[in-house]
Amino acid sequence: MLTCKELAEQASLYLDKDLGFGEQLSVRVHLLMCRHCRRFIHQLRLSQAVIREYPEPLDTQLDELAKQLAERHKQP
Ligand SMILES: [Zn+2]
Repeated sequence: MLTCKELAEQASLYLDKDLGFGEQLSVRVHLLMCRHCRRFIHQLRLSQAVIREYPEPLDTQLDELAKQLAERHKQP
């Protein structure tokens, strides 16, 4: 079982799908049981999506872009 600290360290690898099967499974199991880390991963994924979609956003635009992405990803 991963600790929250270990999960945080592997989070970006997890989102990039750079983890091995066993490691990925450990992360998923942890996420199933840990609400805090689910939120953490969600936020990280959101910020990565912003970075990928807009390679060089201005700092002042970043908040607005994040809001738009959050709206887009919101479940009905
Ligand atoms: Zn956790």
